[in-house]
Amino acid sequence: MKTLNDFNFENKKALIRVDFNVPLNDAFEVTDNTRIQAAKPTIIKILEDGGSCILMSHLGRPKAKEDNFSLRHIVSSVTEVLGVQVKFVDDCIGSTVEEAVANLKSGEVLLLENLRFYPEEKAGDVAFAEQLSKLGDVYVNDAFGTAHRAHASTAIIAQFFPENKCFGNLLATEIESIDKVLNNSEKPVTAILGGAKVSSKIGVIENIIEKVDHIIVGGGMTFTFIKALGGTIGNSLVEDDKLVLALEILAKAKENNTEIHLPVDAIIADAFSSDANTQVVDTNEIPDGWMGLDCGPKTVEKFAEVIAKSKTILWNGPLGVFEMEKFAQGTIGLGNAIAEATKNGVFSLVGGGDSVAAVKQFGFADKVSYVSTGGGAMLEMLEGKTLPGIEAILK
Ligand code: AMP
Repeated sequence: MKTLNDFNFENKKALIRVDFNVPLNDAFEVTDNTRIQAAKPTIIKILEDGGSCILMSHLGRPKAKEDNFSLRHIVSSVTEVLGVQVKFVDDCIGSTVEEAVANLKSGEVLLLENLRFYPEEKAGDVAFAEQLSKLGDVYVNDAFGTAHRAHASTAIIAQFFPENKCFGNLLATEIESIDKVLNNSEKPVTAILGGAKVSSKIGVIENIIEKVDHIIVGGGMTFTFIKALGGTIGNSLVEDDKLVLALEILAKAKENNTEIHLPVDAIIADAFSSDANTQVVDTNEIPDGWMGLDCGPKTVEKFAEVIAKSKTILWNGPLGVFEMEKFAQGTIGLGNAIAEATKNGVFSLVGGGDSVAAVKQFGFADKVSYVSTGGGAMLEMLEGKTLPGIEAILK
C-alpha cells in the first residue's frame, strides 16, 4: 500500500483528490469544516517536504456550472484551516488552470473549481481524467467519502500515474481502521448495527458474520427480527419481505458461533412524534397502535455488558430515533458504554452518516478511537467490496 511516506515531495506538484463536499449556509459559509480538517495532515506533509498542492474536489450535485456550487466559497475556510493562503482558479482543466499550476511555487496551495461542473467527472471519462492528470507529478487520493465511486478524479485518473500515485493520510487511516476491525482485530469483536432497515445493512451483516464474535442489532431493523421470531411488534417499522432473511441470518450466526443480541425492551410511542405518549415494554409484546422507537433500559444494560467484554468495536447506525430527544437514550447509553471501553484501551470505530451525526451531537466523537469520514464508502468496505478509488491506487 503506497502512502505519502513513499515519496519525497520536494519540488513536486501533488495533485490531491480531497473530499471538500462541505455544508454551506445561505451566506455560503462553511458550517462544518470536518472534511477540510481531515485533509490537512496530507497537505501539510507535502508542503513541509517542499512540494506544492493542487486540490481537486466536488461540491454538491450541480447540473451545470452553477455559482451556488462554486468551490470559491470555501477558499477562506481552507485558508483558515491550513494556515496557508490558498489560491483559486475558476476551472479544473484547460489552459488557465495549467498556467496557474505552472506558476505554483513550493509551499503553495491551489484549489481547483468544482469537478462536477463537468459531467465527465461522474461519467468516469478517460479523456477528462487525462486532462486533470497533466496538473500534477504525483496523484494522491485522500477522498474516502467518494472512494466507492469510479469517477474520473477518484479512480480513472490513477492510470496516468503508474508509479507516482499513493493514498493520502486520511484514506490510509480509514483503510487501516476497517482492517483493524475486520481482519487484524483483537478479539472479542463486537459490531453494533442500528439504523432504519435490514435491507440497507444486509450486505454488511453477511460479510461480518464470520469475522466478529458479537452482533448487536438495534434501531428500526430490530422489529423485522422480532416479528420473524414470532413476537408482536404493533406498528413498528418492519420489512415483511425480509422475515425469512432475518431467520437465515440468525441461523448463519449460530453456525459461526457469532452471538446476535436483540433488544429485550423498547420505548414505544403512539405516534412518530416528539410529543407522542410513551411507555416501556418487552420488545416482543408491543400493542397495536404503538411503535418501538428506541431501546429500553434493560437493553442498554445488556448491550453495555457485551461492550464491556469486547476488545474491538464497530458501530454503524443509531439504536433509536435519536433525532428526537425522547428516543435518544438507547444511542446515548450505547455511546457511553463505547466511550468507557475506549478509555480502557479498546479500539472503537464509528462510521456511517447517521451514527457520525449521533456521536457528534452527543459529544462522543473524541471519546472513540476513530470516526470514519465516509458513509456509503464505509458501508461498501464493510460489505467486503473493493472500492474503485482504493483499487486504482493498489493496481
Ligand atoms: P440508517 O441510515 O439506516 O443508519 O438509519 C438511520 C435512521 O434510522 C435514523 O434517522 C433513525 O431515526 C432511524 N431509526 C432508528 N431507530 C428507528 C426505529 N426504531 N424506527 C424507525 N426509525 C428508526
